[in-house]
Amino acid sequence: MKKIQMVDLQSQYAKIKDVVDPSIAEVMESAAFINGPKVHQFQKNLEDYLGVKHVIPCANGTDALQIAMMGLGLKPGDEVITADFTFAATVEVIALLQLTPVLVDVDPVSFNIDVEAIKKAITPKTKAIVPVHLFGLPANMDAIMDLAKEHNLYVIEDNAQGIGADYTHKDGTKTKTGAIGHAASTSFFPSKNLGCYGDGGAIFTNDDDLAHTIRGIVNHGMYKRYHHDVVGVNSRLDSIQAAVLDAKLPHLDTYNAKRRDAARKYNEAFNNHPKITIPTGRDVCDGICDVCDCHVFHQYTLNLKDVDRDALVAHLQENNIPCGVYYPIPLHRQKAYLDQRYNESDFTVTNQLVNSVISLPMHTELEDDQIEFITSTVLNFINNKS
Ligand SMILES: *Cc1c(COP(=O)(O)O)cnc(C)c1O
Repeated sequence: MKKIQMVDLQSQYAKIKDVVDPSIAEVMESAAFINGPKVHQFQKNLEDYLGVKHVIPCANGTDALQIAMMGLGLKPGDEVITADFTFAATVEVIALLQLTPVLVDVDPVSFNIDVEAIKKAITPKTKAIVPVHLFGLPANMDAIMDLAKEHNLYVIEDNAQGIGADYTHKDGTKTKTGAIGHAASTSFFPSKNLGCYGDGGAIFTNDDDLAHTIRGIVNHGMYKRYHHDVVGVNSRLDSIQAAVLDAKLPHLDTYNAKRRDAARKYNEAFNNHPKITIPTGRDVCDGICDVCDCHVFHQYTLNLKDVDRDALVAHLQENNIPCGVYYPIPLHRQKAYLDQRYNESDFTVTNQLVNSVISLPMHTELEDDQIEFITSTVLNFINNKS
């Protein structure tokens, strides 16, 4: 059996080397390292794939979120509502821009931001909602967009974990995540569903004026060479990374299907176990049906009941099975984001999840014997040692 890794980027590269290498070589020979033709080519191809009017590439997913907020003109003191259960980047940029982060609890089934909790948190100062499509499952966008419209708020999708996912609307139509909100951000960090070989990110929007504003912000606030109209940043996707991404983009749907395949096999092994809740879709399906393609399984995350999670982690490590705990501490309890306004009783779901979730290896190269070994090792521990 091949060594099990949380993410196996070497095996993936071996299969696409004959497309990626020449694409990188082209950039090297052209020496167009910044804003070269590869960047524009990838940008266009990603716009077509997502069905979004504008993709603005930038340096990483954290910058993408920050730049989206700058582009929307959010000002110090504006309140921005986001999930307590996510990667810190989401709340970090809110705080960095001196906006006021308002963390709210998540739904126990989808792990995504709880719409009722958003409703409770809205004040006259609220300006934006940042839903995260956590672990690759779209947040409840119809309800969030309705709420935003009612209260005149912006919605910025953090799509770092959800690229390629289809969101099915109430009326049955579908939109790719990242093409629904007023703006969206994504990350091309190597381990993400569409990853490059370094750092990269992008902002998406269907709004022409916002796209124009953002194109200036990513380039030192310049709309005309050496005329700086607004305070901007330097955040670029380099051409070599764009070359990698453009070679990988045609594989994205196959990659996400492979993740769903692995998830289906995991689910078969864990389904109906009294101590294990398998990941499920929100309300449209079981999350792995190929009809709606809603879940792209950036992570495959179990929710355990009456299991010593940390002992299971140790047991897996002894068996050379890597795993992850995403995320072990709620953001509202992180030192950097402590705030008097928060009440522990408002975070019952997140407070529980941080102790009971475990993410198993999930990537495009998982083989049946590896999945079999992982599931039997997990079940052996849960059935016999806990
Ligand atoms: C990875 C990630 C980011 C940040 O992306 P970087 O490219 O690493 O800056 C932001 N939000 C979420 C939810 C992520 O998973």
